[in-house]
Amino acid sequence: MRLVLFDIDGTLLLRASAEHRLALFEAIEQVWGVEDPAAVPVDAAGRTDVDIAREICLSSGVDARSFDDGLVAFRSLAAAAFARRCPGDLSAAVSPGMREVLTQLARRGRHVLALLTGNLEPVARLKLERAGLGTFFAHGLGAFGSDHEDRAALPAIARGRAGRLMGGGRWPRAATVVVGDTPRDIACARADGVGVVAIATGSFGPERLDGADAVVRSAPELLHVL
Ligand SMILES: [Mg+2]
Repeated sequence: MRLVLFDIDGTLLLRASAEHRLALFEAIEQVWGVEDPAAVPVDAAGRTDVDIAREICLSSGVDARSFDDGLVAFRSLAAAAFARRCPGDLSAAVSPGMREVLTQLARRGRHVLALLTGNLEPVARLKLERAGLGTFFAHGLGAFGSDHEDRAALPAIARGRAGRLMGGGRWPRAATVVVGDTPRDIACARADGVGVVAIATGSFGPERLDGADAVVRSAPELLHVL
């Protein structure tokens, strides 16, 4: 069995992060009083929600201690703001062919499918539910931006959860692969010593993703490399 860890934005779903961004900004404003979080330039691709919030806050004059003190409130306010803003139907945002890929992988019975995303878990779960992909990803598996601020820490957390499911230690590295669309997805896989397939459906072309074990240009191609 192989553990396949799917990123969400730019991988499973395309162009479905506008409301998510607004929800993060709203929570940052409420918790830390940052006046115009959207005005702070942040390279957000492949980072966790908390990591993004930290950069916005610190570059807006919030001190590190106050930032840490506000994290619990931030997580719950961001999730609530997203629940309020999330479109009722995100099915049009599913990457072309991805539903069939997930169906095939689930049917083959040789893969355990899980999420690996910088989204806070309630945000991630709601996005997938509204996109009609929720049933492919069991609760209790995967790793999220609510588990750790550093994306590089997420694959090991996901292997821990999958390993417990199988009644043992961590899921083996050699039987784990990350599927993601950014150089940070590749870096997080490398940090844990697991495999990585990059998909050039997000904001990075194949030439920026050449550190992966394989690079594909569309969801259906994943079936050949997984
Ligand atoms: Mg992504």
